[in-house]
Amino acid sequence: MIHQNPTPVDTIEFNGHVIHVKRDDLQHPHFSGNKARKLHYLLTTDQSHISTLVGYGSAQANSLLSLAALAKAKSWGLEYYVDHIPGYLKQHPRGNYRQALELGAEIISIGDQRGDLGMQGFIEQQILPERDDVLFVPEGGRSPLAETGIKRLADEIRVWASEQQVDELKIMLPSGTGTTALYLQKHLPFEVLTCACVGDSHYLTEQFNQLSDDSHHHPKILTGDKKYHFGKPYREFYQIWHQLHQHTGIEFELLYDPLGWLLLLDYLNEQQQKAGPAILYIHQGGLLGNASMLPRYRRKGLT
Ligand SMILES: *Cc1c(COP(=O)(O)O)cnc(C)c1O
Repeated sequence: MIHQNPTPVDTIEFNGHVIHVKRDDLQHPHFSGNKARKLHYLLTTDQSHISTLVGYGSAQANSLLSLAALAKAKSWGLEYYVDHIPGYLKQHPRGNYRQALELGAEIISIGDQRGDLGMQGFIEQQILPERDDVLFVPEGGRSPLAETGIKRLADEIRVWASEQQVDELKIMLPSGTGTTALYLQKHLPFEVLTCACVGDSHYLTEQFNQLSDDSHHHPKILTGDKKYHFGKPYREFYQIWHQLHQHTGIEFELLYDPLGWLLLLDYLNEQQQKAGPAILYIHQGGLLGNASMLPRYRRKGLT
């Protein structure tokens, strides 16, 4: 069962800072973190006219697994389109890819069939027409449909803060599409901090604008000196991930969290005042992805 209770908050001490961690990773192994929040609306409302969910993205994406879990829970099929499936993954299925296959997902590699069309354009023009029983979810769940579930997360945070008598709070979470961070900022009276894991801050701002042109809803984007490419393994990413695991007992994920933590720590170290606002880091799940990321770190000798 996918549980509907508020997720717990742990308080950890790391590198001399006290940080609260919202354990959104603990919702369900297949349906956790922000993807579960984004799909919450679809999970809990009647969608009986739908028989197939259509999505796209990378063959290792956290959203693939969540879409597969949603489809399974609703007895829908899932058609998930990818540009290609890496050879090593095909030979040794693991992580999100493997679990999604086990949940019945159909993962369709379209190779160069889409020509100059973007994946979304290809699906809209070639896959969706004349099928009225399909529901298309854009990559990473970047959709206004996500707002309902993320507002619930905001409500949980507000209740927690009031129970803990925390008046001054900053929220930190790393972004892909920025959907989660933006809707959190829209529904919270606290400042939301984020960072761009996919593309740069300019790209992330464009993503924000697509969901809301009200700049009050735009989270503050933390930046660092070094440019990282999404999905590439970096030694300092593994190091911070490993330190966090060892010192706090919490396993974070390897695509988004390392940059989120590195930039949060920089930000906290730059703050002059000793007793600043409380910090709440959102653990957005995605742990099954570690099963395919860790071997890549090991192969590169970065562990
Ligand atoms: C998808 C995902 C993100 C990015 O979420 P956005 O709402 O697209 O910004 C961050 N962390 C994890 C673990 C994710 O699975």
